[in-house]
Amino acid sequence: GAEPRLLHAVFFPFQAHGHMIPALDIARLFASRRVRTTIISTPLNAPSFQKSIKSSPELGTPITLEIFPFPAKAYGLPDGVENVEQAVSLNLFGHGSWRAAAPDCLVADMFFPWATDVAAKLNIPRLVFHGTSFFYLCASDVLRLYKPHTTPHSDNEPFSLPTLPHEVKLTRMQLPPDYRENGESDSTRLLTRVKESEEKTYGVIVNSFYELESAYADYYRKVLGRRAWHIGPVSLCNRSTEEKARRGKEAAINEHECLKWLDSKEPNSVVYLCFGSTVKFTTAQLREIALSLEASGQQFIWVVRGCSDDGAKEQQWLPQGFERKMEGKGLVVRGWAPQMLILDHEAIGAFVTHCGWNSTLEGVSAGVPMVTWPVFAEQFFNEKLVTEILNIGIPVGAKQWSETASGSVLVKQEAIEMALRQIMAGEAAEEMRSRAKKLKEMAWRSVEVGGSSYSDLSALIEELSSYHLHKSK
Ligand code: UDP
Repeated sequence: GAEPRLLHAVFFPFQAHGHMIPALDIARLFASRRVRTTIISTPLNAPSFQKSIKSSPELGTPITLEIFPFPAKAYGLPDGVENVEQAVSLNLFGHGSWRAAAPDCLVADMFFPWATDVAAKLNIPRLVFHGTSFFYLCASDVLRLYKPHTTPHSDNEPFSLPTLPHEVKLTRMQLPPDYRENGESDSTRLLTRVKESEEKTYGVIVNSFYELESAYADYYRKVLGRRAWHIGPVSLCNRSTEEKARRGKEAAINEHECLKWLDSKEPNSVVYLCFGSTVKFTTAQLREIALSLEASGQQFIWVVRGCSDDGAKEQQWLPQGFERKMEGKGLVVRGWAPQMLILDHEAIGAFVTHCGWNSTLEGVSAGVPMVTWPVFAEQFFNEKLVTEILNIGIPVGAKQWSETASGSVLVKQEAIEMALRQIMAGEAAEEMRSRAKKLKEMAWRSVEVGGSSYSDLSALIEELSSYHLHKSK
């Protein structure tokens, strides 16, 4: 008979790198299992997908990029910002090529609660992608019920989150404002919409692996009653140097030179510092980092995305002659670094991270211990997972949640220096390193044929296929 029609999954990623990068990896994973995939993007964001898709000859089933034309200066959005919600609702029922493509499921970011209604209109399942850990998915649910702003603690007093599998203590200062304050705001309203839409969705795709946080995977499914499939670490679908190098934006450093530099170093001898795609520190904070790197005597690659103080000059945070003094010892990357390529190099001995979930999981997958420096979003929770549950990291001592990092309490040179020493040498460091290496092996096993993430993805694709078959009867 005729070849059966391939299942077609459509992805609506939130248009920020921390969401677009794993969404593309998930699309690639689906494609590697003979699922047709389409990614929706907007003109400004499309190039970062195009770059990766075009040069992916290893993909079995091609990924289609659908660029929804975006009305200029629309809906009061700032210049240079394209919000996919308006683009999708404007184009969804009129856009020729996409309508003809007949999607069988929508994988939409958590920030798009409206996607549930879109899927309902098309009579197909909607899956949610949060881009975070089971641990945070559980903790945020518990927090919503616990309402920390109503408890008698002071802002800096640690309190424990009730009912979770481990005792986890946080302070109110480390929580996103929605859990810290009373009353309604745009973001609490959005979170309520997100929550309500999730209750009507088909299920949740989680970028994690069972062995990493099994107690929380179980809690999420059995106690909180969610349907979820864990299919990560999704970054591990990037195997070759080329695939790792082209993840995300164009790098601000020549990949081959960077690798050559790392090749000249001993195993586990270089610290990699990077704070994700959005964090910008103040000049004062950058200066403390620079001074601590010099004083610690460690070799390093330090990624700096710029500085949050308007109009600040580099001389204000980079000590005079710093790079000359550090020549051969340290590299400063101004802009985007090929993170996976760097983390996976055997010369890297530790990762100083803001604990974005992608970075955290990439650190785990590379088997490197971490210095945790959370700033905003759910990063303070990821820090707890790394330092207290997995025991593969040391906190730098960040105290305060801050959307822009400029509102954080300054982390002093001495604290950074101490964390660097503790993570790079000594008995505790060796123990953390060996635990991290074990987790790396588990991560790899989970995505190989028969592994837990591999099997969960198979189960998901099978369910979606049979949903589709039943619908078309
Ligand atoms: N990333 C990168 N180079 C950089 C900064 C970030 O490749 O210079 C990648 C990193 O590997 C990760 C993603 O961008 O996949 C950042 O996601 P994460 O969740 O860690 O943090 P966010 O950017 O969302 O705060």
